[in-house]
Amino acid sequence: MVNGLVATSLKEALVAMAENTYTPYVGGTDLMVTEREQAEYLFLHKVPEMCLIVKDEQYLRIGASCTFTDVLNNALTPPLLKQAIRELAAPAIRNLGTIGGNIGNGSAKADTALVFFVADALVHVTSIRGGRLVPIKKFYKGRKQLDLAPDELIIEVLLPKELPSSWYYKKIGARKALAISRVAFAALMEVRNEKIISCSVGFGAISEMVIRRPDLDAMLTGKTIKEAKAVKEAYLDAYKAIINPIQGRISAEYRKTVCMNLLADFLEQNGI
Ligand SMILES: Cc1cc2nc3c(=O)[nH]c(=O)nc-3n(C[C@H](O)[C@H](O)[C@H](O)COP(=O)(O)OP(=O)(O)OC[C@H]3O[C@@H](n4cnc5c(N)ncnc54)[C@H](O)[C@@H]3O)c2cc1C
Repeated sequence: MVNGLVATSLKEALVAMAENTYTPYVGGTDLMVTEREQAEYLFLHKVPEMCLIVKDEQYLRIGASCTFTDVLNNALTPPLLKQAIRELAAPAIRNLGTIGGNIGNGSAKADTALVFFVADALVHVTSIRGGRLVPIKKFYKGRKQLDLAPDELIIEVLLPKELPSSWYYKKIGARKALAISRVAFAALMEVRNEKIISCSVGFGAISEMVIRRPDLDAMLTGKTIKEAKAVKEAYLDAYKAIINPIQGRISAEYRKTVCMNLLADFLEQNGI
């Protein structure tokens, strides 16, 4: 038996979170497979403020209760995020699973979280005490640990309004489809007049946290393609030194090789 309250407005949801110990519940695709007999749930699928996808002057704002299908079908969604969703689970799960639920677990295997890391997204969290915008890299504090107080809810994820035009996404799973990632790689690059304006890469599912290292990507930023080619080996070596996948059902060595091949492929796609 599932106990709980169905919130129909953000205010009602926030008051409920402040007054009781509720577990937020949207699609339930993660919670349904977790045993929480004593849990009291706060159902968030009917909170209108959390179901919006809108663009403002700075950001594309994706409501936490938007399902993967909502996001996939929205014309405002950037191609990188669409691709990650296309490769995520099956349509039945995509119709239920949500953006807030995907990052609400604090898992490095969450496919949209990887995209949010690469896009330097902000997570908008709110309680009746007020709201905060937290960079996703800080929102994830460790394995299944989030910068989220017990009375706070994830309201939306904010992506920069325009993402770099060159994108890359590959997910390697046990099967071709419907598999949780064993290695996931996402990357963005903006090149204008042969000059790299921005570069960001991320690796998911290989360690407790998504790997996102702007300090290493800075080796390419501001360089011409020709200059980037000259530092390519050093850049790859820098990532090789910090990628240490955890041993899972498949070997850490295999995962590392896949990561490095994907990174090299992304560079080649951009002429580097
Ligand atoms: C068969 C199957 C295949 C799957 N395949 C994939 C896959 O390929 N890739 C992938 O990334 N995931 C996959 N998943 C996992 C799951 O579908 C996703 O993580 C999904 O995004 C969870 O969303 P939800 O709305 O169902 O979350 P729920 O189960 O409702 O909640 C998940 C967690 O987030 C918290 N939460 C939810 N919303 C909020 C909020 N607004 N504020 C604060 N906390 C919140 C909940 O309390 C809970 O801890 C799969 C799951 C199944 C069952």
